[in-house]
Amino acid sequence: AIPVITIDGPTASGKGTVAHRVADRLGFHYLDSGALYRLTALTALRHGTALSDEHGIAKTAEKLPVRFAGDAMWLANENVTDAIRAEDVGNMASKIAALPTVRHALTGLQLGFRKAPGLVADGRDMGTVIFPQAILKVFLTASVEARAERRYKQLIGKGFAANMEDLLKDLRERDARDSNRAIAPLKPAEGAHILDTSAMTADEAVEQVLKWYAA
Ligand code: C5P
Repeated sequence: AIPVITIDGPTASGKGTVAHRVADRLGFHYLDSGALYRLTALTALRHGTALSDEHGIAKTAEKLPVRFAGDAMWLANENVTDAIRAEDVGNMASKIAALPTVRHALTGLQLGFRKAPGLVADGRDMGTVIFPQAILKVFLTASVEARAERRYKQLIGKGFAANMEDLLKDLRERDARDSNRAIAPLKPAEGAHILDTSAMTADEAVEQVLKWYAA
């Protein structure tokens, strides 16, 4: 069977960076499942599709004209790699992620990333719902303060405006939404290793995950 490593956790826990590096080290494919929700959110925002139009948003998700080119993501002819990282897109993503038909519409696309020699998948429900058979499951967390600080640096680095207080409030709201929703709530998968990265560098977290994988 093609091995899958799942790395789930809350917003800005560092799972993206860690998952990406683990994939590179093992020569595995990498799935940023949050990006699929963000691509759907960006499209819905642009089309003015209301959050109440679950069917319309699910249709958008099903027909995403998405192309992955290395680390870049394209929607039709537009490189949206940076645009999907904006806070308003992330917020909308976390709202549409609570819609069952939207999650369902994105399932096939995610399963398609499982290709030889292996896959590292990061998100909220990689270990619990999408790849329950994963050979290694990691739940990556960090304190809300540590995560806000990381997100702040990320946003500033990408040229977005950012404010610590807003970020903290936003993260808390998004944590609550991700954890309390009825479908695929954020929680450690059965058998998941918990890794708190509050006082850890990304590289230290990568080494820990690789150690678990080798064990
Ligand atoms: O990880 P990221 O912040 O890019 O994800 C954006 C949003 O998509 C999250 O706030 C979460 O609500 C949702 N998401 C999800 N399931 C996943 C990945 C992301 O519900 N597997």
